[in-house]
Amino acid sequence: MIAIAGLTNSIAVRNYGNWKSRSYNPNGVLKEFHSVEWYLQYTKDNSDGRGQLDAGQLHKLFWNEPWQKTDPHYDVLITSADLYDARNGVRETNWIFGSAIPGFSLVASTFRPRAEFRNETTYLEVLKTGVMHEFGHVIGLPNENRGYALEENLGGHCTNRCIMRQRVRIAEWGEITADRLNHGALCRDCLRDLSRGIPDLRR
Ligand SMILES: [Zn+2]
Ligand SMILES: [Zn+2]
Repeated sequence: MIAIAGLTNSIAVRNYGNWKSRSYNPNGVLKEFHSVEWYLQYTKDNSDGRGQLDAGQLHKLFWNEPWQKTDPHYDVLITSADLYDARNGVRETNWIFGSAIPGFSLVASTFRPRAEFRNETTYLEVLKTGVMHEFGHVIGLPNENRGYALEENLGGHCTNRCIMRQRVRIAEWGEITADRLNHGALCRDCLRDLSRGIPDLRR
C-alpha cells in the first residue's frame, strides 16, 4: 500500500516484477500482453542498436491491456532500458528519464541516473525522485488550473522547491533529490492541488 499526503485513500500496490503468464510464449512467439518481455520487445527501437523504448507506445499498450477493463489499475513500469518519446512515429526527444499519463500510467528508466550517479545510494534516491515525480503527474500534479507557481516545460510543472519541478539534465535531478531529502517531496501548492481531488482515467 502507498499512502500519499493529502489523499484519504491509500493505493494497493502489486509488484509484477518480470511477469509472464503461463501461456506467454506459445510456439516460441511472445503472446501479446502476456509478459513484460512482450511490452519491451514491442516498443523497442531496433533502428540504431541503442535498444531504446518508445515511452508513448508503452502508455498505449497499458491503455489497450485487456485486463484494464476487468481490473482497472494504474500501470508503473521501471526499466533499465533507455527511453525516448515520439509523436505519430516521429522522435521528439533523444532520451527521457520518464513520462506519465495523468490518471493512468507512468514509465521510468534507470539508464540515465545509473550512468550519471556512481554512488549507489545517490543513484537510488535520484531514481526514486524521478518515479515520485512521474507518479505525481499520474495523480494530477501540478493542477494546471491553479494559476500560480506553474510553468510549461515539456508539460505543466511546478516552479517551487518541489519534486514536481522539471529539469532536462539528469545531474539537475540530483539537486531536486537533495531538496526532497532535506525539505520534503511536495510543496504546499502541490499538496493543496491533491486535496482538490485526483484524475482517474481507469474506467
Ligand atoms: Zn514532469
Ligand atoms: Zn510543487
